[in-house]
Amino acid sequence: MISRREFLHALARLAPVLGGSGLILSEPALLRALPDILDGAAFAGDWTDELIRDAPRARFWSAAAKGHVQCHLCARGCLLDEGERGQCRSRMNVRGEMKSLVYGRPVSVHVDPIEKKPFYHFLPGSQAYSIGTTGCPLRCKFCQNWQTSQASPEDFRVRFTPPGDVVESVRSRKAPVIAYTYNEPLVFTEYLLDIASAARPRGMRSVMVTCGFMAQAALAEMCKALDAVKVDLKGYSESFYRDACGAELKPVLRTIKQIAKSRVHLEIVNLVVPTLNDADRMIADLCDWVMGELGPDVPLHFSRFRPDYQMPHLPPTPTATLERARSIAMACGLRYVYVGNVPGHPGNNTLCPSCKKEVIRRTLFFVEGSNIKNGKCGYCGKKIAGVFA
Ligand code: SF4
Repeated sequence: MISRREFLHALARLAPVLGGSGLILSEPALLRALPDILDGAAFAGDWTDELIRDAPRARFWSAAAKGHVQCHLCARGCLLDEGERGQCRSRMNVRGEMKSLVYGRPVSVHVDPIEKKPFYHFLPGSQAYSIGTTGCPLRCKFCQNWQTSQASPEDFRVRFTPPGDVVESVRSRKAPVIAYTYNEPLVFTEYLLDIASAARPRGMRSVMVTCGFMAQAALAEMCKALDAVKVDLKGYSESFYRDACGAELKPVLRTIKQIAKSRVHLEIVNLVVPTLNDADRMIADLCDWVMGELGPDVPLHFSRFRPDYQMPHLPPTPTATLERARSIAMACGLRYVYVGNVPGHPGNNTLCPSCKKEVIRRTLFFVEGSNIKNGKCGYCGKKIAGVFA
């Protein structure tokens, strides 16, 4: 007899595959994914002591007075007393030393199209071996992956998976990309860095899907290891970030600018949540900021919200709202603006900014056709922003 807790955990593990981002994978991808997902689905009681005992020393922290430790990984900067965990639930002061409770403990592992992240201008059509743990420093009321982002590491009893094993698994699946995603990857930065540095010499690229609520020094190190980053810019308002996400906008904007100045490919997603961040004024402010600070070539995705977590009473985002947001962005001068999580919508396709012809056609998360040659429009020769080889 399976308990309710066990059932919820099993469901949580399957959620990203069965539609954690609102859509379903192709059958072959699902079949490939299931063994990995079910692999860790054993529940053998409380294993917190074992988890803490085996947790490796974290990076990005310093010792403070009276046995406290100060975390320097995200913009929250938790000051932790002995035995305390950070807001992310992933890092803990264990006898005056910061430990990572999520290093080597992936709870979601499967293969997705890179368009599902979404990346539309980074190796379109590629398979991304996607990996996530538990934990997040934010508390977004509309979280679409709350089953893992708002969980504690001991909620999922999973075997320790060293970075080399992840890379070997990626190689065996012949995936050219590793995506750090599902929960907030910054909470497993040490694991990410070790996987990415083992993967790069083998020709694998690393991409991250993040809320962007990071400290600058940690981000600088991540930018050396990563090839692309997608940042969720949740709304252009401090009060929205404070009230709906338990966070701040300013560090997220700083992160986006820092990535844009690096060699790392950048895309931005704005999940449009009805009544919370869908006002034209907020969308226009966001677009103005992107255009003014980053220029016209950063891809911007407006994604449909589906009712979830603490917002089950809100409706899914109307398609017309997403189309309006896209029009506002294009009127600002942004060249690559998308409508996300609306299968079959023409706003999923990439248009050449010069001749306006369709250079990539997508259905769901799948590329159906492409006319980009050597990074240029196959019709008129205009350079298309992004990484295509
Ligand atoms: S990563 Fe976790 S422990 Fe560190 S500052 Fe952020 S919330 Fe706190």
